[in-house]
Amino acid sequence: MFFDYHLHSHFSADSDMTMDELCQAAIRKGLNEIAITDHHDIDYQDDTIEFLIDKDKYLQEIKKMQKKYENKLTIKKGIEMGLQSHILKESQLYLKDDFDFVIGSFHTVEKSDLYNGDFFEGYSQWESYIKYLKTVSKVVRKYDNYNVLGHLDIIRRYGDFENKPKLLENKEAASIIESILKTIIQKDKGLEVNTSGYRLDGENPLPSFDILKLYYELGGQILTIGSDSHKTKDIAQKFDYTIQKLKEIGFEELTTFNKMKAIPHKI
Ligand SMILES: [Zn+2]
Ligand SMILES: [Zn+2]
Repeated sequence: MFFDYHLHSHFSADSDMTMDELCQAAIRKGLNEIAITDHHDIDYQDDTIEFLIDKDKYLQEIKKMQKKYENKLTIKKGIEMGLQSHILKESQLYLKDDFDFVIGSFHTVEKSDLYNGDFFEGYSQWESYIKYLKTVSKVVRKYDNYNVLGHLDIIRRYGDFENKPKLLENKEAASIIESILKTIIQKDKGLEVNTSGYRLDGENPLPSFDILKLYYELGGQILTIGSDSHKTKDIAQKFDYTIQKLKEIGFEELTTFNKMKAIPHKI
């Protein structure tokens, strides 16, 4: 049983793959189930691009795909919700109960964008990493309308720094990460294992394996796996390898979702 729980289609401004292409590629790769998780970033801080979904059109298109591939592929209504501390009410209002699965992700933090580098202006590397983690920590303590936290250490991908240290290497960062993990465990939220991370250091998904190990040791069990594909070639990227590594840590299950309810699967 294989599933990819982080996939973008042309409903995301940074992808031009149609949902049909996406579904066909998922079937070709032998997946049984996918969640389509396009971007919805309210108050995204880069005016040159907009990551907002017309929800009705989006859900209609997913429905069409569910019908078309009924016997071949289970398709879940997912979304990657860009979280910021000042738009949590709006996020809640937008989502209602309309989705099977919600990834909560941070792309813009404290009204500064990570991707275009604004967020790092005037801060050292660790200062900016810690600023990012503190925001994540604050949001997970007060917001609950999501299932898994997306690419937790994505901050490592951005900023114009020569080295990309793992976040647990810094004491303060490590202690914030531990508190984030404890909070999500206590609230029955999970983590996603995002295999687009291998593009960064070749060895780790997002978050890196040491964070996943810490999550396991703290009692974390809810894990989804997703490739964060924007192109068909990346779907289910490095899943075999990643699942093997997760088993070595001790994980015995991966999770899928139906109407926001977790369904465990033995791995
Ligand atoms: Zn993302
Ligand atoms: Zn994504």
